Amino acid sequence: MGENVTLVAVSKTKPISMLQEAYDAGQRVFGENKVQEMVEKYEQMPKDIKWHMIGHLQSNKVKYIAPFVDLIHGVDSLKLLEEINKQAKKNHRIISCLLQFHIAQEETKFGLSLEEAESLLSGEAFPALQNIQIAGVMGMATFTDDTEQVRKEFKSLKSHFEVLKSKYFPLQNTFIEISMGMSDDYQIAMEEGSTLIRVGSKIFGSR
Ligand SMILES: *Cc1c(COP(=O)(O)O)cnc(C)c1O
Repeated sequence: MGENVTLVAVSKTKPISMLQEAYDAGQRVFGENKVQEMVEKYEQMPKDIKWHMIGHLQSNKVKYIAPFVDLIHGVDSLKLLEEINKQAKKNHRIISCLLQFHIAQEETKFGLSLEEAESLLSGEAFPALQNIQIAGVMGMATFTDDTEQVRKEFKSLKSHFEVLKSKYFPLQNTFIEISMGMSDDYQIAMEEGSTLIRVGSKIFGSR
């Protein structure tokens, strides 16, 4: 794996015993997509694990993960960001978040357009959010065998990252992450500049 790529082991639906096995082999970053499941696993697993929320997060559930979550990948609204900020503040924390972009052709996937992200970042409400830190971007490619399509979508996410970096975070060395790539496309994602690959079934088996 490239030097600057972190593997997020996506352990959703998998039992603690399998997470423990990965932990014993040295894995420290785990991704979950459901709040309750993440909380239960957090309680049972060693405390030096970094827990990444990779799924769509509902505002009313942020409070359950705010005390410990390391990175929230799927932020796609100001409302959610404001709630994360509020809960982070209550916990005396600064929580790192990624802005999720809609890069796939599929209609169903969540995410912002570049325009929406820019209006969020340049809006009046944003500077008041002192307990969140935007650490980068996240996206999911179309589920397809067409690798050129997938590559094109990863390129577009990388380009959104560069635009936001130069316009809104030119001096921040904390805006660094591009979360893209899953079991079927992480190799392409890494070629296109991913810093965080989210791999589940390739590690833990199919769900
Ligand atoms: C489940 C999931 C993954 C991992 O998928 P695999 O194909 O099993 O590697 C990655 N990212 C997100 C957002 C997911 O929900």
